[in-house]
Amino acid sequence: MRPEYKELVIGVVAMQGSFAKHAHSMGKLGITSRAVRTAEDLKLVDALILPGGESTTMTLLLENEGLWEPLNDMLDTLPVFGTCAGAILLGNQIDDERVHCFNKIDYLAERNAYGRQIESFTTALVMPKIVDHDFHAIFIRAPKFKDIGPTVSSLAVFGTQHVLLRQKNVLAASFHPELTNDPAIHKYFVDNVILNSR
Ligand code: GLN
Repeated sequence: MRPEYKELVIGVVAMQGSFAKHAHSMGKLGITSRAVRTAEDLKLVDALILPGGESTTMTLLLENEGLWEPLNDMLDTLPVFGTCAGAILLGNQIDDERVHCFNKIDYLAERNAYGRQIESFTTALVMPKIVDHDFHAIFIRAPKFKDIGPTVSSLAVFGTQHVLLRQKNVLAASFHPELTNDPAIHKYFVDNVILNSR
């Protein structure tokens, strides 16, 4: 474990969705997580995870709980990892006007673009920039990222789709790395997005 890991606190937005699984992935790396439910919680974290769930519901909950504005300000610079619904919220545009976007990474998110819950699937992704083994990726009503801007780097591809993207302090996955027993992408987030920006 890198000594810097001991000093980090990763906030996981815990309005809805898989807070515990992300905390477990960070725990495997020896890193502390904290559930974020209020603007006060946000002051205590070094980075954030916006988990999967339902992006329409997450929009409403974040706005009603007064978290949207403080998050919007902080996410200009705070390292953030969005997975599935979380990745949808981080984009510049969404194909559903009920979902609001933080405009922190340059793509249009197309919701449920692989089909419904029953069309969920798993696949082995090759991610040479991140790990030297295949990553078992779980896609659940996943979005596709379209109109990807030139400042965004692609870290993993599935067929013709870019499924793991990075722009500055933002990492976005259309799948659920926290549901896999492999913290490789969480480690990439910590080593390359959080610690490299310090
Ligand atoms: N389809 C969901 C949405 O659009 C995202 C699904 C997920 O996070 N697994 O919000």
